[in-house]
Amino acid sequence: MTTAPFIVAIDGPAGAGKSSVSKAIAERLSFSLVDTGAIYRCAAMAARRAGIAADDDTALGTLTGTLAISFKMASGENRVFLGGEDVSEAIRTPENSSFTSQVSARPVVRQALLDLQRQLARTSPRGAILEGRDIGTVVFPDADVKLFITASDEARANRRFAELTAKGIETTFDKVLADQRARDLADETREVAPLRAAEDALIIDTTALSLQGVIDRVIETIEAVRLVSAAGRA
Ligand code: C5P
Repeated sequence: MTTAPFIVAIDGPAGAGKSSVSKAIAERLSFSLVDTGAIYRCAAMAARRAGIAADDDTALGTLTGTLAISFKMASGENRVFLGGEDVSEAIRTPENSSFTSQVSARPVVRQALLDLQRQLARTSPRGAILEGRDIGTVVFPDADVKLFITASDEARANRRFAELTAKGIETTFDKVLADQRARDLADETREVAPLRAAEDALIIDTTALSLQGVIDRVIETIEAVRLVSAAGRA
C-alpha cells in the first residue's frame, strides 16, 4: 500500500517568518519545500518581461500555462528556476513583489498555477511543506497540519528591511512598511483565495518569539499529528 505524502500547509502574511521556518522544518524532516510565493513571483516576472499588463487576463492565462517552474536545493538554499534560469534573486525585488500581488489576484493566474503546486507536493517522496497564502484554504484544504504564521506589521517590516539592506538593496523602513501594508491589503481583500487563516489552522504569532522557538513549536505539532496518524494506520 502506498501512503499519500504528509502535507503541511503554512500560510501567513509577508515577513512573518514562514520561509525560514518552512526551510528549517523541511530540512529536519527531509520533506520537500514548495515555496508557492516564488511560483507566483515567477509568473509575475515572466509577465513583466513580456510586457503584459497586470489586468490582461487573456495574455496572463496563455503565458502562465506555458511556464516551466522548478525548485532545486543547492547549498542549503531552495533555488527557483524559470526554464533553465535561476531566478531566485531576480523575483524578489520590491518592484516584482508589488507586481506579484496584482497578478496573483487574477483568477486566471491562480487557476493555472494550482495544479503545479499540488503536483509538486504530491510527488514528494516523504512529505511536503507548502508555504503561501491559501494553502490551508484552497490548495490543500485537507492538509495534515495547517499553520498560520503571523507577526505585527512593524516586526515584519523590520525583518524585511534588514533582509533587503543586507542584500545591498537601498530602501527605508517607512517604504518597506508602506509596501508591505499595500501588499497585505491586496492579498487580504482579493476576491479569489484571499489571505486568511483556515478555520482549523493553528495560529502562531512570531512577534515576540525566536526563530528557534517557532521551529520547535511547529516540529512538536507535526510530530504529534504524525504519531496519531501512524497509530491510526497500525
Ligand atoms: O510569499 P511571498 O511574499 O514570496 O509571496 C509573494 C506574493 O505572491 C504575495 O504577496 C501574494 O500576492 C502572492 N501569493 C499568493 N498565494 C500564495 C503565495 C503567494 O497569492 N499561495
